[in-house]
Amino acid sequence: MSAADLSYVQPTPNSPWGTYLSQVDRVVPYLGELSRWVETLKRPKRALIVDVPIEMDDGTIAHFEGYRVQHNMSRGPGKGGVRFHPDVTLEEVMALSAWMTVKTAAVNLPYGGAKGGIRVDPKKLTHKELERVTRRYTSEIGIIIGPQQDIPAPDVNTNAQIMAWMMDTYSMNVGGTATGVVTGKPLHLGGSLGRVKATGRGVFVTGREAARRLGLDLRGARIAVQGFGNVGSVAAELFAEAGAKIVAVQDHTGTIVNAGGLDLKTLLPLARTEGVAGFKGGDVIANESFWDVACDILIPAALEGQVTAERAQKTQARLVLEGANGPTVPAADDILAERGVLVVPDVICNAGGVTVSYFEWVQDFSSFFWDEDEINQRLDRIMMNALNQIWDTADRHRITLRTATFAVACERILMARQERGLYP
Ligand code: NAD
Repeated sequence: MSAADLSYVQPTPNSPWGTYLSQVDRVVPYLGELSRWVETLKRPKRALIVDVPIEMDDGTIAHFEGYRVQHNMSRGPGKGGVRFHPDVTLEEVMALSAWMTVKTAAVNLPYGGAKGGIRVDPKKLTHKELERVTRRYTSEIGIIIGPQQDIPAPDVNTNAQIMAWMMDTYSMNVGGTATGVVTGKPLHLGGSLGRVKATGRGVFVTGREAARRLGLDLRGARIAVQGFGNVGSVAAELFAEAGAKIVAVQDHTGTIVNAGGLDLKTLLPLARTEGVAGFKGGDVIANESFWDVACDILIPAALEGQVTAERAQKTQARLVLEGANGPTVPAADDILAERGVLVVPDVICNAGGVTVSYFEWVQDFSSFFWDEDEINQRLDRIMMNALNQIWDTADRHRITLRTATFAVACERILMARQERGLYP
């Protein structure tokens, strides 16, 4: 049997799960004896589909489809965010959970990989309806999550408030306050300083190092950012603080450009409330034109599959920093490599979020909280150590940073699998 035989998903080459499978195939030659275990990575350990019925404010009953996939738990409890989006599918959640397995291993956190989601447009729900959807979903997946089993966190369209509802619902069901069941919580409920900005900060830390190695001066560097939410906007702010110019931003409302640099102080509050399209300090351009904007660094920080072969051909960037999960399809990866464009892959580039989530979980267990400087210093150290090791692997085998990250991570995962053995 091979992964193609999974009865419940038929991946295509550019679909998220298809992209992930192709990334795994590319790492096999570097796994040596461990390659006999590789099929482990090509199928999720466990996938739960739940019905999420809620009463809407107008008295009608609505049903939403929810998922929690635990891809691999060889190295520790499952870890991964929860996404609320109308396009969420089981296949997407499977891929996102698998990338979490690789990511947690790449930065050597004692976790496996998991992910969850609800097929819902949260922008169409009232605050109360959103709370009911969150609580019912949490209750439904409560049979497989827990502080030592699987620990959800925020992802697209979910935030600290949603994590607080999840923590409360799980806690009510188990009869005690279990802060360690989710991360990305509000600060006064066991959240960690630095968590909100951690993913964007990780993108900045890995991007700064990649730029240094490329000889690309961040002062005056032109950056285009797709997705201006938690990840994209924080990364943009940090690069701007380092002297770079944010010359193009795209979100779900549209695309704006300013070759002289967009003024983030006025753009950020607007992006949070209405989206970037109404911003007066730049020109609105067609969404497709975002991909050939004159820039040095491209940061895809929205959704999967955005960097297609055609867009990879057009980009003027020398460096791509994958803030989003799975933004680049395999054919585009090859084109970027051929064109000499360096890609810092998602599985290391955006690992800052899960790293500070890990700090939050550790702080919750010890009931002892660290200051922000300590968190940022530890985050920077973990990201830099991981990136340096990945870079050495890439240089040694003359492979891309993505395949090198998979090589480092998959060796850890499959070694754990082998040492644990199969049961029975
Ligand atoms: P978010 O909900 O805060 O922001 C998402 C952004 O993407 C918004 O600006 C939205 O307008 C934009 N967007 C949505 N659809 C778009 C489209 N079709 N075209 C252009 N822009 C679009 O989400 P986030 O937490 O910033 O997550 C963004 C990406 O980063 C996702 O791939 C997520 O899985 C990944 N990620 C997030 C974290 C985290 O800690 N939040 C950690 C690791 C990876």
